[in-house]
Amino acid sequence: MNLSKKRIGVLSLQGAVREHLHILEDCGAHAVPIKKPCELHKLDALVIPGGESTTIRKLMIKYEFIDAIKQFHKEGMPIYGTCAGLILLAKKIIGGGEPSLDLMNIEVRRNAFGRQRESFEVDLKISGIGGKSFVGVFIRSPWIESVGESVDILSKFEDKIVMAREGGLLVTAFHPELTGDNRIHDYFIKMIKKS
Ligand code: GLN
Repeated sequence: MNLSKKRIGVLSLQGAVREHLHILEDCGAHAVPIKKPCELHKLDALVIPGGESTTIRKLMIKYEFIDAIKQFHKEGMPIYGTCAGLILLAKKIIGGGEPSLDLMNIEVRRNAFGRQRESFEVDLKISGIGGKSFVGVFIRSPWIESVGESVDILSKFEDKIVMAREGGLLVTAFHPELTGDNRIHDYFIKMIKKS
């Protein structure tokens, strides 16, 4: 597969957009900031970054991204949500807020790690990603409280689910775009079906 030909969009309404664009380019993909739904057509996959999920949600509604991203998913394109992006993909949210994209069979607890641990780093083991452990950077992160049958749990921290995949949907409660470690973005790019 020629990765340089893959075009990966990063939803650019609010949040850690630039960091994802950089790491995707580093992985050999063509990274594209996405500001309008019509720009989704030219993509092979989409990243929904971390930030403030309530703000991104409002902007997604305002700029009519909800149905467009649901359609993008229906057409088989992979979507990766980090942190707030994970919340936006979830079917169920505990701790404030309604589902937005309502696509992934996960129940998510917002700001789950509490005020004591607003941001922290830990070493994670991730199934499907070999080599040394992955440094998980958590910033006011959610965790995944429960998952549906079709969801694969890829990583846990202290018994809490912090990474999962359901078909073409990938989510992490932490921020790999802040670590300079490309392995999760590489994994995501490989989720693109060959055509
Ligand atoms: N706490 C934020 C929210 O609920 C998510 C934090 C993040 O994306 N780093 O939207």
